[in-house]
Amino acid sequence: MFTIDQYVIAESLEEAYELNQSRRNVILGGIMWLKMGKKRIGKAIDLSALDLHKIEEDEDCFYIGAMCTLRDLEVHPGLKKYFNGIIEKSVESIVGVQFRNGATVGGTVFSRFGFSDVLTVLLALDTYVELYKGGIVSLSDFMDMPRDNDILVKIIIKKDNRKAAYVNQRKSATDLPILACAVSNVGNTWNIVLGSRPAKAQLISLRLSESLNEEQINEIINVVEDKIVLGSNDRGSKEYRSILADVFIRRNIEEILLGGNHED
Ligand SMILES: Cc1cc2nc3c(=O)[nH]c(=O)nc-3n(C[C@H](O)[C@H](O)[C@H](O)COP(=O)(O)OP(=O)(O)OC[C@H]3O[C@@H](n4cnc5c(N)ncnc54)[C@H](O)[C@@H]3O)c2cc1C
Repeated sequence: MFTIDQYVIAESLEEAYELNQSRRNVILGGIMWLKMGKKRIGKAIDLSALDLHKIEEDEDCFYIGAMCTLRDLEVHPGLKKYFNGIIEKSVESIVGVQFRNGATVGGTVFSRFGFSDVLTVLLALDTYVELYKGGIVSLSDFMDMPRDNDILVKIIIKKDNRKAAYVNQRKSATDLPILACAVSNVGNTWNIVLGSRPAKAQLISLRLSESLNEEQINEIINVVEDKIVLGSNDRGSKEYRSILADVFIRRNIEEILLGGNHED
């Protein structure tokens, strides 16, 4: 159980940012993760009055406010139509609908959890993070930035007509993933992301050709094996993850090439 001394509904991002500079104060997302901890919080900073709960889109991008919930991502008609529906797929195994109605995009992306389905998928897309002070940075750069006291305002996903596929393996339906794998293709570029390795998701981009032969698929798998380090934890061994990675990369590439779905 965590304890809050004072609860503040921020009236502006500047106020929220100023309050967040104290180590005792904490920004609240959906509190699904925070409530698992034992922290004594000085001021709990609520962003819910700052109009950050909208998903907007124009011709080029989706703009997703930090206070949107994972359920908002899952049911948004525009997002469902893009990227073969992998955004919906990335959240559907996270606990349950009630949970996803609470957990936020801000809490999910800012936390950069190693087990994240959502970050695995967002990294395979052309995704940017808008930080209140830090401005707009690519998600892949943000993944490597040290954690600071900035505020995530929104994420931006470019509509570049890339094709994408996502699979993950869990011991049981709503457990954390043993391995998560997203692949996307735009033009000659293939993006492979492995998440829950069990470390934070990592992206490898390769320029090959739009349609791949067996030799090129093997080349992708070899490069990924070489560059992305897999490890062991109580959910699965490094060796098991390596077998899964091989199968999942192939399966995702095949799905993209065939434009279809794998039922198994
Ligand atoms: C039991 C459980 C199971 C889970 N299973 C999975 C899973 O299988 N797959 C998966 O991908 N994820 C999983 N998650 C993670 C979940 O999906 C969310 O990512 C997580 O709950 C954080 O979102 P939140 O809104 O609850 O954040 P909070 O708990 O409110 O906040 C988390 C952290 O982010 C900070 N924060 C929140 N919003 C912002 C912001 N806008 N700017 C800056 N900092 C901010 C907070 O200060 C805090 O440090 C699980 C979480 C739990 C608790």
